[in-house]
Amino acid sequence: MPSMPKWMNNAVENLLSSKFRDVSVTETEYISENIKRVKFSGNLHGLEYAPGYAVSFRVNDTDYRNYTPYNFNKVTGCFEILFHIHGGGPGSEFADALDVHDVMKMLIPRGRESFTFRNRYKYHYVIGDETVLGLALELKQEAGKYSYEFNGVFELDNHEVPEILELYGSHVPKNEPHKITEQIMCDIFDGVIRKDKTAFYVSGNGTTLQYVRKELKQLGVLSNQIFAQAYWIKGKKGL
Ligand SMILES: Cc1cc2nc3c(=O)[nH]c(=O)nc-3n(C[C@H](O)[C@H](O)[C@H](O)COP(=O)(O)OP(=O)(O)OC[C@H]3O[C@@H](n4cnc5c(N)ncnc54)[C@H](O)[C@@H]3O)c2cc1C
Repeated sequence: MPSMPKWMNNAVENLLSSKFRDVSVTETEYISENIKRVKFSGNLHGLEYAPGYAVSFRVNDTDYRNYTPYNFNKVTGCFEILFHIHGGGPGSEFADALDVHDVMKMLIPRGRESFTFRNRYKYHYVIGDETVLGLALELKQEAGKYSYEFNGVFELDNHEVPEILELYGSHVPKNEPHKITEQIMCDIFDGVIRKDKTAFYVSGNGTTLQYVRKELKQLGVLSNQIFAQAYWIKGKKGL
């Protein structure tokens, strides 16, 4: 999302007020040294929502950043977000500072249809880093509704995180994308997933995404089974 002058962001919030909802922070918790779980509450009635949709927050006068809600419940008005506190931008600072009783405007959920749950596949496999954990939780829950299989491989600083979140996928170290390929090959070989019946959701670090998408194709996965969206790219601000 491009930076805009403060006066313009203020004007947008006034002119497009139907696109914003007030939400408040009800709980915060660091589930690891760099992942913060924040629970929000607000009026979510009438909002369009599907797993994989993102919301945005104005993280300072000039910038908005995208985040993925999970446990999004229009009836109770609650949802949660897992923020990666990477320490390199205003979004990360904003999330780090969030505290109970904070109130803010949220840009309502929206998303690419191509990146939501694909119920024609029996196996659902998420690949990404800390930024995709919320997405993974939503897709896991959705797969559960159909009694479909969910799995994934996550590149993470802290390898206990998937277990803490009850995601139970595999984990690999950061910046070693060939290990992601190896894990996918193992999961195919061991019958954890069936290559031709799997939707692969690839997200997070754009550089890893490009590598993994190419590798999946080399493994014979069809393009229309791969749903990819970069959540951040080194050196770029606020995708
Ligand atoms: C649809 C969508 C959904 C998203 N959902 C989530 C989510 O649920 N949780 C979440 O934490 N993030 C999520 N992201 C990613 C998040 O919006 C970006 O990481 C964003 O860049 C963070 O803003 P920032 O101001 O902290 O850093 P920016 O100012 O945008 O970036 C500054 C620099 O920091 C580096 N950087 C940015 N993000 C990261 C990162 N995660 N790890 C390491 N280095 C980074 C890059 O080199 C970048 O040039 C999502 C993004 C999209 C597009």
